[in-house]
Amino acid sequence: MEDRINRDFIRDIVKEDLASGKHESITTRFPPEPNGYLHIGHAASICLNFGIAEENDSATCNLRFDDTNPSKENTEFVEAIKEDIKWLGFNWDEREYFASDYFEKLYGFAVTLIEKGKAYVDSQNQEEIRENRGTLTHPGNDSPYRSRSVQENIALLKEMRAGKHEPGSHVLRAKIDMSSPNLNMRDPVMYRILDTPHHRTGNTWPIYPMYDFAHGLSDSIEEVTHSLCTMEYEDHRPLYDWFINELKVFKSRQIEFGKIFLSHTILSKRNLTKLVENNLVTGWNDPRMPTISGMRRLGYSAHSIREFCQRVSITRRWNTAEIELLEHCLREDLNKKAHRALAVLKPLKLVIENYPENQVEYLEASNNPQDDSSGIRKIPFSRELYIEQDDFMETPPKRFFRLTPGREVRLRYGYFITCKEVIKDPVTNDIMEIRCTYDPDTRGGNAPDGRKVKSTIHWVSANHAIDAEVRLYERLCLDPEPDISDGKNLESVLNPNSLEVINSAKLEPSLKESTSGNPIQFERLGYFCLDSEDSKDKDNLVFNRTVSLRDSWAKTQSSN
Ligand code: ATP
Ligand code: MG
Repeated sequence: MEDRINRDFIRDIVKEDLASGKHESITTRFPPEPNGYLHIGHAASICLNFGIAEENDSATCNLRFDDTNPSKENTEFVEAIKEDIKWLGFNWDEREYFASDYFEKLYGFAVTLIEKGKAYVDSQNQEEIRENRGTLTHPGNDSPYRSRSVQENIALLKEMRAGKHEPGSHVLRAKIDMSSPNLNMRDPVMYRILDTPHHRTGNTWPIYPMYDFAHGLSDSIEEVTHSLCTMEYEDHRPLYDWFINELKVFKSRQIEFGKIFLSHTILSKRNLTKLVENNLVTGWNDPRMPTISGMRRLGYSAHSIREFCQRVSITRRWNTAEIELLEHCLREDLNKKAHRALAVLKPLKLVIENYPENQVEYLEASNNPQDDSSGIRKIPFSRELYIEQDDFMETPPKRFFRLTPGREVRLRYGYFITCKEVIKDPVTNDIMEIRCTYDPDTRGGNAPDGRKVKSTIHWVSANHAIDAEVRLYERLCLDPEPDISDGKNLESVLNPNSLEVINSAKLEPSLKESTSGNPIQFERLGYFCLDSEDSKDKDNLVFNRTVSLRDSWAKTQSSN
């Protein structure tokens, strides 16, 4: 299995640090802010952090919620995040932490910094703070409150904590350097006053630590040895280190890596939140969403997502992975796991004139030819069937090999049939029904005289079929790299045809027993699964198309 484990520069550092004895054990953490659901980019980070813990006996990975912004965070998000990580197959045991559990400790750190003359209460308003911060080309200006005495600062901070001041009236800032070329070092805000209750601490705290103050110190409190984050935090590292050095606490090593993106989709919780809030999708777990919960509902397996993350390498550059690779990982897995079934999405009635009325026979079909242990099932066959409208053409073009007047084709698992007549609606001229004959000697799909047919089509028995709604999903965005910069609205990059609903699909009766979470291949059509939200009732089945059968990734790989 060793060669299956991805090597990347971070895993190399971890390996080196263990080999050199720099660390006897390794601690990583996955630190979501509970302000949205996890997406495929987060999955990459989860696979990296928890993966390192799985791959090294002396390594563990914490789950820590960086819940420092109560106005955007809530318990729904906390629970959804936990469910998704578990579903991916990772385990944090008892190591479930919250930055909010450290609020008291962090407050203590703030007091220490004030006492050292390294933090002060600033009473400029937000606007003034922004103006005095300077720009990339101009240094900032010291706040007129920068030289407040330690006593005054302590007294004010205490009052802030006691809820005696209005939001926006004061903030606590680190006293670093208003002319630092790194803007993060220009006396960053450590605490602000907010009158928003927190989903865990309720109304206990009228002041909340800023992410940059809380994040690195939370790593330190947990003695995280390798703090892995994405590149945009590279410029924040000096600040995290500054806090750690001033407070003389455990030093975590921060290592940045490039974010993983996915083609034909948009990530980042900010954008996904907009999709949800503007009702452009049905929710965080809409099957078109690149969220883990959306992908799960669409029918993705945890295995395929982990396999994808394994194949997408972690580097220092951001990386837009092709969605075709993700779908390839999915098909590879579903091909092994999915039971096969016959389903007709757009039914056309077909009557076999020489098949006895009221006769039913049961044709045997393998549940999964890729898996001998999957067993067989019996599919009812009778005089009246449904076939796919697309599998019949009255006046076909040259390369159409399926059913057409006078032609013989094979019915999957069944007989050869020949089309004798097309019945049309006298008014609309629409095709209503196909009349055929069958050859009783071709049971099992072969003719004793050795004659061949050019195609095999799927079908269901009309009297036995069950009805279902089928949802055909397409990519969220048609453009491989949707551009949402320059104030373009999100709606303009969305594929307007990302969902087609089919109300009257006909399925073989065994599908009545489907359960969500079990993939099914509708033969010739794709992989499907029962929708976990809208199929609560057995008489009202809804199936989602997880992915079609055609694998364009495998094709491009083999032609390269
Ligand atoms: P987003 O940009 O989507 O809002 P975020 O970074 O704000 O993501 P967090 O909840 O803070 O979301 O992320 C938790 C962890 O996941 C962080 O360590 C973050 O670096 C990592 N992460 C987020 N997005 C990606 C991505 N696209 N690829 C890899 N890791 C990511
Ligand atoms: Mg973040």
